[in-house]
Amino acid sequence: MISYEEALARILRHARPLPCARVRLEDALGYYLAENIRAREPVPLFDQSAMDGFGVRAPDVAQARAYSPARLKLAGMVRAGDDARRPVRSGTAVRIFTGAKVPPGVQAVVVQESCEETGGEVLVRESVPAGKNIRRKGEEIRRGARVLSAGTRITPPVIGLLATLGYSTFLVHRKPRVALLVTGNELVALGKPLRPGRIRDSNSHALAAALKDTGIGEVSVRRIKDDEPSLRQALMAALQDSDFVLTSGGVSVGEYDLVKDAAVSAGVRTVFWKVAMKPGMPNYFGVWDRGSRRARAGGKKAAPAKTLLFGLPGNPVSALVSYHQFVRHALLKMSGQRTPGRFVFPAALEKDVSKKAGRAEFVRGVVRVNNRALNAAPTDQQGSHMLSGLASANCLIHLASDATLVEHGQQVAVEFLSWEMHG
Ligand code: AMP
Ligand code: MG
Repeated sequence: MISYEEALARILRHARPLPCARVRLEDALGYYLAENIRAREPVPLFDQSAMDGFGVRAPDVAQARAYSPARLKLAGMVRAGDDARRPVRSGTAVRIFTGAKVPPGVQAVVVQESCEETGGEVLVRESVPAGKNIRRKGEEIRRGARVLSAGTRITPPVIGLLATLGYSTFLVHRKPRVALLVTGNELVALGKPLRPGRIRDSNSHALAAALKDTGIGEVSVRRIKDDEPSLRQALMAALQDSDFVLTSGGVSVGEYDLVKDAAVSAGVRTVFWKVAMKPGMPNYFGVWDRGSRRARAGGKKAAPAKTLLFGLPGNPVSALVSYHQFVRHALLKMSGQRTPGRFVFPAALEKDVSKKAGRAEFVRGVVRVNNRALNAAPTDQQGSHMLSGLASANCLIHLASDATLVEHGQQVAVEFLSWEMHG
């Protein structure tokens, strides 16, 4: 059995960023850039006022005070969007607004609160140095500068920045196509009648939602009986058509746990089976070569495409926790993420927790701020089959492999659950 860290490292070694695709700005949220973005123009585009006020020549207001204002002739008005071409001469000022282009000759802007307009003139009650309240052309971004690097996640401010720079399309990594195969003779689809011994299939819904949370929209979902030939056939089709195949159930050591054997007979190379962790011990991971199909990434010839296969245990909590701790990172790396994003912080444990040595535990917990530090407590329902314990958690409390008793007040690492980080 390998450790959680080793298993994650192996997965990330096999997960490679997918080839690029051009995407439109309005569809780009959540993708990762596949090119560096340079500024084709400076930002700001021109010298502009940072305030509503009056544009002046600095020497004209050098002696201005509240009790002895400078008196300047008002020589016009520039609003945002105006092309201010008429120069402003000594002894004059212009009314100017935030974002308006600064006309030639204007050296500073005095905020309107320090000025008083009286019939064709303005009294300025404050002395300002040259440059005051003016956003300089290129002060934020020089023309030609690299603004965003390949691998950047496209968030709302990144969208805004790309729009500022005039990019309506650009290259991103395409997202993985995912097939989700849910195994189990006992499973009944939502809305169908339950018979004795049967249960509702929750994993197909929970995992499809987890995929959506990771930004994966293209998912095909199939429910399969615990029968080797049908499983193998379904796997072969899924491996062919997807970048990532996710299975649920059938990876333990029971007589009807067929996923690993079916995968191997479909040509999947096993990378690991079983991880020293709880929940999620029976996790299976393998790789399948999609043969001669050539993928192109960034104009260079890429290695032959691979389909990754991750076999999640059927227990609903094990499935989601393993998804969160492994699958999510693989899918994000394939989507172009450069370093795994994990929200792990130190927290003080609120009660004693005991465990077996030799496996890492991810205890479902609630973390809260207490006197500017974090406190974490396990939720009540800790069974691998108890979804309610995960639904009420906002974090996973990490308990180290060698620990047996972690006491109240001890520092532990807590990892925020990605789906709890919204809203
Ligand atoms: P397995 O990993 O197939 O041995 O399943 C372990 C446990 O998880 C069993 O109690 C199954 O009934 C349950 N289980 C498996 N698949 C699902 C599913 N899709 N939805 C809900 N429970 C499941
Ligand atoms: Mg099963």
